[in-house]
Amino acid sequence: MNDLILIINAGSSSIKFSLFIQTAADPALLYKGQVEGIYVDPQFSAKNAAGDKLADEKLPADAPRNHDYALRYLLNWVQSHTEGRKLAVIGHRVVHGGTAFTKPVKVDAGVLAELDTTIPLAPLHAPANIGPMKALASLLPDVPQVACFDTAFHRTQPEINQLYALPVELAEREGIRRWGFHGLSYEYISSVLPDIDVRAATGRTVVCHLGNGASMAALHKGQCVLTTMGFTALEGLPMGTRTGTIDPAIVLHLMTHLKMNAAEIESLLYKESGLLGLSGVSSDMRELHSSAEPRARMAIEYFANRIVQQVGSLAAALQGIDALVFTAGIGENDDELRRLVCTPLQWLGVQIDEAANKVRSGEPRRISTAQSTVPVYVIPTNEELMIARHALHCIGL
Ligand code: AMP
Repeated sequence: MNDLILIINAGSSSIKFSLFIQTAADPALLYKGQVEGIYVDPQFSAKNAAGDKLADEKLPADAPRNHDYALRYLLNWVQSHTEGRKLAVIGHRVVHGGTAFTKPVKVDAGVLAELDTTIPLAPLHAPANIGPMKALASLLPDVPQVACFDTAFHRTQPEINQLYALPVELAEREGIRRWGFHGLSYEYISSVLPDIDVRAATGRTVVCHLGNGASMAALHKGQCVLTTMGFTALEGLPMGTRTGTIDPAIVLHLMTHLKMNAAEIESLLYKESGLLGLSGVSSDMRELHSSAEPRARMAIEYFANRIVQQVGSLAAALQGIDALVFTAGIGENDDELRRLVCTPLQWLGVQIDEAANKVRSGEPRRISTAQSTVPVYVIPTNEELMIARHALHCIGL
């Protein structure tokens, strides 16, 4: 039976996968796993839906350390765990869709050629996303593939929220606009909101996607009005190792006074800054919480402060706020960070329920008091399920 859906999320040094099975309702997760450290010391791991470890092994030492081999290794494992069932479709997470792709698309030769034109917009991610599509087209030519874009959800932003105040001709020619990212996560949240809070789903909701990468989005009737990430995933909130928004003249200063080149500045902005740079301790929230170093606490408070500022900005863009949602690794698990964000938002009508905020659960939940005029929710995101739904829909199943 062709009822399996394979989701591929390929990055520059890892390929993550999830395997779903089609059901009468939403697709159900069977396995998830990844090959990490592709060019260094590739390691494969996989778990079942309950989280039990099924594999954790190094790839053969004499095998090529590249994406192609990692993909074939992963595919072999998947195919030996399908129990006679077959793949109906493969869904890919693609970081950048440019202007060409505003919704998921079935992959064919024309789409692959068009995707190649997005490489200058995401030079690190796009080749990693596109490579597995090309490889799978020859490895499994009969299985349709669907590409789902992290930028697509943000194309509903009003034009002025997508523009930078740069000369129009230059910006258009170079594709310099506020693309926004984490779109599949926001789309998932938007898809489940009607079951959680109808007023939030039909009204004005600010969603905080707080993980290693962090961004926020203002949703009106479930559609994006404004998001904090822009041309790249560097704009907006500070993140694990990324600066978030800084004065662009800092870059000029680094070039002219410190004579730093593009690669050095890129490393500084993407890999050495954010929570890691501020704290000098770690990019990982859990390590910051357990550190006695005062700068670790300062980094946490800085992060919360910038989120609070953005809630104000996004609520202004929405002309009000009917709900606030936390999601992703930090948003779903870090009650202290949520408390630090919600407490200064009392002026907006946010009143956090301290006990509800401390509850640990994998389910969507409300963490504000009954009196809070703005309800606050924790909603676990599920980008892979969003891709699985799109993949089935795109091939008409
Ligand atoms: P993500 O990129 O969505 O996987 O999120 C990764 C981030 O979530 C890292 O900064 C982790 O430290 C953070 N995180 C995961 N679990 C917890 C937790 N229990 N408490 C605080 N932060 C957490």
